[in-house]
Amino acid sequence: MTAAKERGAEKEGECKMEAQKIKSDGKVTTLLLADFKLSLVNALRRAIINGVSTLAMDDVTIYKNTSPMYDEILASRLGLIPLKTDSAIKKSKKEFLFKLKETGPKTIHASDLIPSDKDVTPVYPETLIINLKEGESVELEAKAVFGTGQEHIKFSPAHVFYHFYPVIDIKKGAIKEAEKIAALCPIDILEGSGDKLSVKKGKLQDCILCKACEDFAGSDNIKISSDAKRTVFEIETWGQLETKDILDQALECLTEELNEISKKV
Ligand code: SF4
Repeated sequence: MTAAKERGAEKEGECKMEAQKIKSDGKVTTLLLADFKLSLVNALRRAIINGVSTLAMDDVTIYKNTSPMYDEILASRLGLIPLKTDSAIKKSKKEFLFKLKETGPKTIHASDLIPSDKDVTPVYPETLIINLKEGESVELEAKAVFGTGQEHIKFSPAHVFYHFYPVIDIKKGAIKEAEKIAALCPIDILEGSGDKLSVKKGKLQDCILCKACEDFAGSDNIKISSDAKRTVFEIETWGQLETKDILDQALECLTEELNEISKKV
């Protein structure tokens, strides 16, 4: 191959990257990234965790706390409550207040916090904050501000991970103890009946490559490997933002960082 042809082949290779949404249920979005460099995939994961801005309680003033829970623990619990952070909220103000004034006996949930802005509410109202016994009381004010995971993990919008695309080779013909092998799969993607073993339809990408099936059945019967050219990329939102917004903001953040480098060159 001539040098020009090689360069041409490289160029073709550069353009092969493909992203495809394979699953999305509002909470979890799964993408299939083909021919992406792993360093780029990891940069995207880090941009999501560290670069996307969300709201979280950051400054808590405790006026009264006669419960056995230390003030610091109470403040930490409040900080970890995910708050709805859509783009309209982002444009409206820089900080939001929540008030809490309760006396036991009462179980206090996130829904008992009184927000200064009715649109800024806890994602999970049933989140338990504290259980107050008879006579115990709590009075506080918490200020929610915008921040990123780089400042504190409470601002991080999602749990993100990736793995290579699984390849499951099942021997053609009869497989002994197929049902038992299927039952061993921790995420239940195998189907076993009689001496037949197969992967459930549309479930292949969920395989976590644990090899529990291969260890039991032997690699002559089932062989687990992975395709390093394809990456399964999963984003599970904590609820502050939709996964689409998270991805858009992370990509914006990456672009800004790269432009910053470009400006300096
Ligand atoms: S490797 Fe693990 S997750 Fe994948 S099919 Fe086998 S048992 Fe299931």
